Amino acid sequence: MMYRSTRGITASVGFGAALRQGLAQDGGLYVPSEWPAFTPADFGSLETLPDIGTRLMAPFVANDALAPQLESIARRALNFPAPVLPLSGDGRYSVLELFHGPTAAFKDFGARFLAACFERLRRPGDCPVNVLVATSGDTGGAVAAAFHRLPGFAVTVLYPKGLVSPTQERQLTCWGDNVTSLSVQGTFDDCQQLVKQAFLDASMLARQELTSANSINLGRLLPQMVYYAAASLACHRRHGEPLSFIIPAGNLGNTVACVWARRCGLPIGEVMLAHNANRTVPDFLASGEWHPRASVATLASAMDVGDPSNMERLRSLHPTLGDLRQAVRTCSVDDDAIRARIRADHAAYGRAWCPHTAVAAEAYTRLSEAERRGQRWCIVSTAHPAKFAEIVQPLIGRPVEMPASLGELFRRERRSVEIEASLPALRAAIES
Ligand SMILES: *Cc1c(COP(=O)(O)O)cnc(C)c1O
Repeated sequence: MMYRSTRGITASVGFGAALRQGLAQDGGLYVPSEWPAFTPADFGSLETLPDIGTRLMAPFVANDALAPQLESIARRALNFPAPVLPLSGDGRYSVLELFHGPTAAFKDFGARFLAACFERLRRPGDCPVNVLVATSGDTGGAVAAAFHRLPGFAVTVLYPKGLVSPTQERQLTCWGDNVTSLSVQGTFDDCQQLVKQAFLDASMLARQELTSANSINLGRLLPQMVYYAAASLACHRRHGEPLSFIIPAGNLGNTVACVWARRCGLPIGEVMLAHNANRTVPDFLASGEWHPRASVATLASAMDVGDPSNMERLRSLHPTLGDLRQAVRTCSVDDDAIRARIRADHAAYGRAWCPHTAVAAEAYTRLSEAERRGQRWCIVSTAHPAKFAEIVQPLIGRPVEMPASLGELFRRERRSVEIEASLPALRAAIES
């Protein structure tokens, strides 16, 4: 399999090179140059994520040096479940839980897969690799967890001082060892800017290899197809029907993974993008005009994206507006509706949603009665509510239970270094 840039200028590359580069040189994102055609029967009776993942991803790594190791990568990275649980009594409305990994958000799938690939791409004698991540929430924790104590790798997490929740800050600063947490005097955009500058800085590059693990990396996207495959195959086997998904959407990585899985022939029906008050994508589908803008802060902060980068991948697969409107639907949910949905669904189902999941749950209720009956719908739960306890607990009037893995992280000692938002400060922090 070769990967081409969405901008079409950079020459196509193989899987390993696409992983190492992240972004294509022409500024585009890598997308598969062809699509495997699966039928549900191709998966036989495979059930686990590693088994389904190994079959599904085989064509995507074909002819690459990593191909023979795909199974061991899948077993190492996809080693926690992604269960689908019924919500309605008849089971036609369900939730796909993606928060059973080490940092309790779906980003663990991609981060762990990427780390397992990078680990196997290393050769003896290679210089140490520093993985730089700018984060405003879940990405930094997932990447730190995935690379923690991995020989040959260091992680530098940059987060905006005072602008992440106390719970988020804890999982960004609890690592130590090969993970350095930098509390940057600036905004998330400043953190991202610093990472970009570091990649252009010759003196930093001379001493170590720098790489990024942000969500445009193909190595994070491809493994996210696997849970959509597993959930839709299980539905198809039991009911002979496709499964439709409602996905909390920010930078659209999780969305693209679902749309790609459907493109490969998995039994996926509709795909609904549930956005918070950041309406760039819903407005585009309505008007046909693309107006990226600064993000606005919402309760579902991991989705506060005003210029989603993976839109480029979505439009590359569905180039015309008509196409795109056929492929996906969108919805936008404001903070008041998020709060109301967390309360209402706790009363109705006894479930506490994180604010991101609540956006999807609210989108479901906005479907017409006929639309709800016409399909089997599954909302995607992207994070455990305990990560957003400050928001969720007052709404449901009781404590949310902490998953054991998260509880353990939270008991660790916290360490971070405060720096000003400048390249010399970043360089000094990394080199000390
Ligand atoms: C990152 C994130 C999202 C948004 O996912 P995208 O792939 O950026 O669209 C939604 N929910 C949670 C909890 C996240 O961490």
